[in-house]
Amino acid sequence: MSFPYRIINSVIFLVLVSFSVTAQQQEKCGTMRMDSIRRAQHPNAPSLQDFENWLQDEIEQYKQKSATAKQQVITIPVVVHVVHDGDPVGQNENLSQAQVNSQIEILNEDFRRLNSDTTDTPANFQPVAADIEIEFCLARVDPQGNVLNEPGIDRYSGGQSTWSQNDIDNTLKPNTIWDPNRYFNIWTVDFGNSGLLGYAQFPEASGLQGMPSGSQNAQTDGVVVRHTAFGRVGNVNAPADKGRTATHEVGHWLGLQHIWGDGDCSQDDFCNDTPDADASTSGCPNSQSSCGSVDMIENYMDYTDDACMNMFTADQKSRMRTVMNNSPRRVDLLSSNVCRVLDKEYVSGQVVDSATGTGIPNAQVLISSMASLQIRCLRGLMISTQESGAM
Ligand SMILES: [Zn+2]
Repeated sequence: MSFPYRIINSVIFLVLVSFSVTAQQQEKCGTMRMDSIRRAQHPNAPSLQDFENWLQDEIEQYKQKSATAKQQVITIPVVVHVVHDGDPVGQNENLSQAQVNSQIEILNEDFRRLNSDTTDTPANFQPVAADIEIEFCLARVDPQGNVLNEPGIDRYSGGQSTWSQNDIDNTLKPNTIWDPNRYFNIWTVDFGNSGLLGYAQFPEASGLQGMPSGSQNAQTDGVVVRHTAFGRVGNVNAPADKGRTATHEVGHWLGLQHIWGDGDCSQDDFCNDTPDADASTSGCPNSQSSCGSVDMIENYMDYTDDACMNMFTADQKSRMRTVMNNSPRRVDLLSSNVCRVLDKEYVSGQVVDSATGTGIPNAQVLISSMASLQIRCLRGLMISTQESGAM
């Protein structure tokens, strides 16, 4: 090989290396990659297209129902596993309670279209901008029924400061997850030097055969967010400092695709009211067009800076609410009561001998206040009751 060729080859090599590094740094969201890995591990699992076919049928039913009857606001109970390596509370990865709370506030603003920057939504997109009518509450009790000192927070000292996605899904999540039928699990972790800001696990279709065993999916279900991209106070780094990483990842967790469909103009996000785009958008451009239309760079499902995002659409709302009402584990959260602590319960009734039905003199009834009401009775008798509104 002659000298000039060697130089040219070296230049080409360096260009390729720097391109691949740049491409890696631009992966803000690891949802699609982790989904591909999971599906490769389970080749018999239904494809995303299978999920899509199921979801489209369910969405049609949702639209028919919501056209005739007002749908209720959905509240999702949340636990945030704050993963650290022994830091005092409020330092480094061990995020302060105020920082966690600020993220829940942001989710409640963004999913109810109560965010302060709705006026930044361009006029042509205002008609499709939607209040998703989904809210989030901090869990008040842990899975054992103990009242949490810090609502919605589980601090976990994981013995290492930074985590790879494989370690998170193979070790961290299974070791720390709270029952995903009762809690929406969020983890805050330090991803180290990668450009990753977060990733989510997609919902599943109900009734589709061939998914990996439910417990396997259940052990990793939830959303992971870089600790410095969580909330809007405390240890946050611009431009991911307004909590929109979690808004984006919760969108995935509820079945949303990226706004550009992870491909060129031929790839869709399955929402008719989001214009096709040929790629993700970074930073915060004034306006941008592709695929023959103005891109919706303000959508939470793009890659724009936090300060540049401010909307979901009506079709995205249909997807998310349909998932909440039908998808395994998501639908179970609708009846979870872990955001409530029952201080008082008024019940009326009689304590009777179960064999004879006659009253028992001087019977004592012990009532313990738990998330799910438990009533014990001395003398081995059991009383069950429905939770009433009188609390
Ligand atoms: Zn994403």
